[in-house]
Amino acid sequence: MQEEKQPIFKNKRTGDEMYYFITRLYPYCRSITGNGTRQTLADISSIIPLAITEVPTGTKAFDWEVPKEWNIRDAWIKDSNGKKILDFHQLNLHVLNYSIPVNKQVPLTELKKHLYTLPDQPELIPYKTSYYEEKWGFCMSHNQFSQLKDELYHVYIDSSLETGSLTYGELFLKGDTDDEVLISTHICHPSLCNDNLSGIAVATWLAKQLTNQKLRYSYRFLFIPGTIGSITWLSRNEKDVKKIKHGLVITLLGDSSDFTYKRSRKGNALIDKTVETWLKTSGKSYTISDFIPYGYDERQFCSPGFDLPVGCFTRKPFGQFPEYHTSADNLTFVKPEKLEESLNALSDIIEIIEKNETYINLNPKCEPQLGKRGLYEKTGGTNDSKITQLAALWVLNYSDGTNSLLDIASRSGLPFSTILKAAEALKECKLLKNDRN
Ligand code: ZN
Repeated sequence: MQEEKQPIFKNKRTGDEMYYFITRLYPYCRSITGNGTRQTLADISSIIPLAITEVPTGTKAFDWEVPKEWNIRDAWIKDSNGKKILDFHQLNLHVLNYSIPVNKQVPLTELKKHLYTLPDQPELIPYKTSYYEEKWGFCMSHNQFSQLKDELYHVYIDSSLETGSLTYGELFLKGDTDDEVLISTHICHPSLCNDNLSGIAVATWLAKQLTNQKLRYSYRFLFIPGTIGSITWLSRNEKDVKKIKHGLVITLLGDSSDFTYKRSRKGNALIDKTVETWLKTSGKSYTISDFIPYGYDERQFCSPGFDLPVGCFTRKPFGQFPEYHTSADNLTFVKPEKLEESLNALSDIIEIIEKNETYINLNPKCEPQLGKRGLYEKTGGTNDSKITQLAALWVLNYSDGTNSLLDIASRSGLPFSTILKAAEALKECKLLKNDRN
């Protein structure tokens, strides 16, 4: 699976770069622990400088414990003629993730107890796990299952479940303040593209964009196994989590459906208003939903003992598309342009977090005469400038020290970037000042 690391990004659009990265990571057999996950983190580290943490098996994490480490080298089923009818190396979803080793002959009746299929989607292979119950198993299409003959099968899984560690990656970018923005994505799914790899790719490229930029906030990117990873991370970083002022769990960002934002448990955190305002002014179709204690790692970040301002940004949510947790969540399901659109959305959202300010109108008695102040020259003579001029009226009217630019964008329905542009022009005309000076 080791491939050449460079050069891979020459003359490609960002969406193509991310898609190429996904194709490279797709074959690795990731899980909540083990070498597939380590290799994934190593590949991410070739793009951004991740700090890798290994947490030993048995380490306590609140009510949980870091499990044994799972690794797999090979697995197959052979029929009575010695013909391989299922092969891990063709698709790692064929093995129940976290399967214990097995090597024996079994009759069909016994084999069936260890097979997982999707009767309603008979051509697809399911993704199944058994992290906390030690058992062996295989996943196959229901079509194949229906054709199995009553004979003796040789089942073979060359895996190990041993004392080892749980691995996660972290990137910290220091900004002007210690206040942090958290971006978290899970890295524990094997050959699945939208659920897992799209989040990994978009988070990696977002981190790459922010690296070496002057930032107001500090940024913390987490690449962690789902559930046990965030629980472990929180248990090791409990004293510092109060620095997290805004956060997003991101995944499911490569398919062609619309964006969905799931609010933080607080429901009215600044991150909620930020993402909701961006969606409302983006011109795109979208869904906003309230927090529920089910989903991805926002469940842990938003557990009542932490209650962090962390929402979840996806396209169609988990479980709501037929490809979810099946072999159909593959390289044809995710699209380069959709990955790029997701990255751009998150860049816009971070621009709001970085640039949101509250201003005071220095000429609050009636509207100032904008022409005289040179505002029209500052905003150019294009169609676009008409919108900026409208935005200027909104900014002037509501900049009384109580409304931020985000509040004004939300109220006016104009994109934050337009409001920001108007505010910058007004500041240049000396019509606006920051409430801090
Ligand atoms: Zn999943």
